[in-house]
Amino acid sequence: RENYQKLLITGGAGFIGSHVVRLFVNKYPQCQIYNLDLLTYAGNLENLKDIENKPNYHFVKGDINDAGFIKELFETEKFDGVLHLAAESHVDRSIKDPLAFIQTNVLGTVNLLNAAKDVWEHNMEQHLFYHISTDEVYGSLDNGGYFLETTPYDPQSPYSASKASSDHFVRAYQNTYKLPIVVSNCSNNYGPNQFPEKLIPLFINNIKNNLPLPVYGKGENVRDWLYVVDHAGAIDLIFSKGKAGETYNIGGFNEWKNIDLVKLLCQVMDEKLERTPGTSEELITYVTDRAGHDLRYAIDAGKVMKELGWQPSLQFEEGLRKTVDWYIANTAWLDHVTSGSYQKYYHEQYGN
Ligand code: NAD
Repeated sequence: RENYQKLLITGGAGFIGSHVVRLFVNKYPQCQIYNLDLLTYAGNLENLKDIENKPNYHFVKGDINDAGFIKELFETEKFDGVLHLAAESHVDRSIKDPLAFIQTNVLGTVNLLNAAKDVWEHNMEQHLFYHISTDEVYGSLDNGGYFLETTPYDPQSPYSASKASSDHFVRAYQNTYKLPIVVSNCSNNYGPNQFPEKLIPLFINNIKNNLPLPVYGKGENVRDWLYVVDHAGAIDLIFSKGKAGETYNIGGFNEWKNIDLVKLLCQVMDEKLERTPGTSEELITYVTDRAGHDLRYAIDAGKVMKELGWQPSLQFEEGLRKTVDWYIANTAWLDHVTSGSYQKYYHEQYGN
């Protein structure tokens, strides 16, 4: 794969995709990187300002749900490999509108798989289709333990059900059509460029604006958090060295109860905004739990560590501080993405 000359990255204007595009554009200057993104509410080209003029970076605005367009793009550009990140990614939105998730996450993925298998059919083994997925497909770990690559799928939300379905299609195309694939399932990411509907940037933004911090239920849910740049590093390693047909779990061995994470974030925000200690915590408001809220996710990332030598580079507190610094320094980014349709979503979701 070191000889690949043209790669397609889908969803590259989103949170994780933008970090993956940046890494690939900078690390592989000989390789042409095509970023295909529809620029939905979650996609933002400001995330890629620093690399947009690099000669090996190309942006294509388009919809993975448009099968004809996707087929033509594959036929014209003859990509060597694909990293597929485009998706609807927010659980709360999937509860409101499951069909949008089936459309993009399942049917959109199948459109890409069809184009890849048709265009690559005469030299299949020289290509790779890498599908980026989530640990949420495994369901909830209520009685301890960790998710392994062999853990049976048990998705509980419309979002995770759509991702689980897309993972199954990707594996079915390997089995049926011999399409070379890899899949990785990662835990919760955090860091710069994350849309402020997700816990950490939502709360940073609310603390800045003295708005309530809506904690679901009693805040007992446990998530494993990974700094997004470390996820991008794992994706690079898996794309370069991962074995076709394999699945790799990625996570930070870094479990936090939501309420403990929120309290740590409040402390960091008080420090950074030079407010009296305890000021931000007063904003915590417990709200009705998310429907079907999974209690605990925890990834065993032993395989990617042992087989490919991957290691997360940042401790959580350090990563959280870096993240807070980024959001404070990028007020214009935050103000831009929280204007317009975000306001409507926010009021519908939290009613204030
Ligand atoms: P995101 O919502 O920030 O970005 C998604 C991107 O996909 C956006 O740029 C959006 O414009 C684009 N997109 C959406 N629909 C499209 C369509 N029809 N055609 C083309 N582009 C479209 O998501 P993210 O958090 O960066 O997640 C990226 C991927 O990683 C997703 O597949 C997600 O399931 C997976 N993942 C996310 C996390 C996490 O914690 N955020 C963890 C594990 C896996």
